[in-house]
Amino acid sequence: MCKFGGSSVASAGQIEKVKQIVQADKRRRYVVVSAPGRSRSDEQKVTDHLINIATSGAHFRDQRLSITPNESKKAVLEKFTRIASELGVDAGDILASLKKDLATSLEGDRRIAFLASRGEHYNARIVAEYFQNSGMTARARLPEDFGLLVSDDYLGAKVLSEAYANIAELTSEDGIAVIPGFYGVTQAGEVAVFSRGGSDLTGGEVAYAIDADTYENWTDVSGVFEVDPSLIPEARAIPRLTFKEIRLLSSKGFNVFHLDAMLSCKERKIPIHIRNTNRPQEPGTIILNERVPEEGIVGIARLENMAYIYLEKDMLGEEVGFTASLLQIFQEFNINTYHYPTDKDDIAVLVNQDDLTGNINDLRRHIEKKLKPDYMDVVYNLAIITPVGLGLKGNSYPIVDALLALSRNHIPIEMIDQAPSQICFHIGVSQAVADDALKILYDQLIKGGV
Ligand code: ASP
Repeated sequence: MCKFGGSSVASAGQIEKVKQIVQADKRRRYVVVSAPGRSRSDEQKVTDHLINIATSGAHFRDQRLSITPNESKKAVLEKFTRIASELGVDAGDILASLKKDLATSLEGDRRIAFLASRGEHYNARIVAEYFQNSGMTARARLPEDFGLLVSDDYLGAKVLSEAYANIAELTSEDGIAVIPGFYGVTQAGEVAVFSRGGSDLTGGEVAYAIDADTYENWTDVSGVFEVDPSLIPEARAIPRLTFKEIRLLSSKGFNVFHLDAMLSCKERKIPIHIRNTNRPQEPGTIILNERVPEEGIVGIARLENMAYIYLEKDMLGEEVGFTASLLQIFQEFNINTYHYPTDKDDIAVLVNQDDLTGNINDLRRHIEKKLKPDYMDVVYNLAIITPVGLGLKGNSYPIVDALLALSRNHIPIEMIDQAPSQICFHIGVSQAVADDALKILYDQLIKGGV
């Protein structure tokens, strides 16, 4: 079972690579495809153009791009026409049907969902046609035909349990099934899409339903890297990671995969193999339920733009319910809290500082009124650096090594916190020194081979 992301199907040349990958292994019988992504950096993704059409241009306007719905329509039609002609696919009927769909009279969220899904829909049809022309036994299997049933949240659909039996039926068919990702149909037969990047989800649900041996997720990077490779070019792809480790690593530079898509694979212990369509010879990263913890630390995550809200109050530790009341205030403001180190007379709450924009004054007033702290302070512009690895459990020396390395390099530490699972720890530093801190920790904990 395999899924190819937008960049892997962005042009005829890329689709040719997909074909070769599928042909190289007979087990690749279920092929989920995204809509074509960008083949040039100045180009927009097909899905974005489709959403732009559906929202009368608001989608790109919000991003300060001046692309009209008509220009988007033209771009979508041209993209598919070009891909089909370069693949030598006679797509007259397919393109006529696309044109008709683009003129849909649906309204509101139904309209956005329907149009957004068309990138995947038509791409699957063209790819299947191309596979057939190349002598492969293949056909497009569409969610509306085989019944990939989803809830009627048109723009954030969830797969219904009834869908699994329908998907599993596909195993009784011969040949290769090319399945469009990102959408399903409601009980009433209307199209509803998953959240953005949702073709990963389709892949995960198909893998679950057919109880696949592996879910290969083909993309344009060679796996999950030890640290953000844009900062540390020598970083390598991590060969094996557990679901728990990738959750802890997910942050800047690690977002190669839609994390929701993991849940069903995790339940059935189906490994997810992240691979690079442009470099299929590379081993990629396998995400599993369990692995032997050979290395102490596998990667280092970084959260940026964090703020630390600090409160002091005499006897706070004895005041039953203080922490609960404090966290409830954050809940009322709909602010996600990340860590809350606490002690006898003080507590701090770490949040993403973007969530405080427009809120901080009110939030402080609420906290002061309700909890009457003796002192309150907010520290902005923090980065939280998190070394992650199963091997950390039962071995606290890497924490000591990390702190010593930072101290040797005169990096002041604003916060430290060990995760309850003991498989990661968090070090807060000022954002101004975060790049340096990350490099130092990479050299010490990963390159040095802890
Ligand atoms: N095409 C959709 C998007 O751009 C879904 C996906 O590519 O996974 O969000």
